[in-house]
Amino acid sequence: MELVGRSRRTSPLGRCVVCGASTCATYADVALCLADATAHGERVIAYHDTLDRFWRLVGAGASADPSECRATERELARLMDDVGERLATRLRHGWARAYSERTAICPLCGERGPYHEPAVNRE
Ligand SMILES: [Zn+2]
Ligand SMILES: [Zn+2]
Repeated sequence: MELVGRSRRTSPLGRCVVCGASTCATYADVALCLADATAHGERVIAYHDTLDRFWRLVGAGASADPSECRATERELARLMDDVGERLATRLRHGWARAYSERTAICPLCGERGPYHEPAVNRE
């Protein structure tokens, strides 16, 4: 099975980002159970990819293209509606943390160093 061109990979047992069920399937690093991959997979992966692009623009700071920033923000707002705000927010918090671990760049301010995670995000 493929989702938005990402083939399904088998990974160590993880948790579906939508419902928390155990799953071994990841699509572009997003763990999804089969039911949620079918129901929400395209939207969730598009949201993941767009957030990733947005954080890279934040990280680029002044050298980022302003029109690309605006377009990416619009796209994010649209995808957040598609995914549903509650799920989108929960996904964003987890992915922001993973992004900062992967890149050592804070996704909020784009600076090198720790993620300035807002206290309200912590579960
Ligand atoms: Zn699921
Ligand atoms: Zn920061």
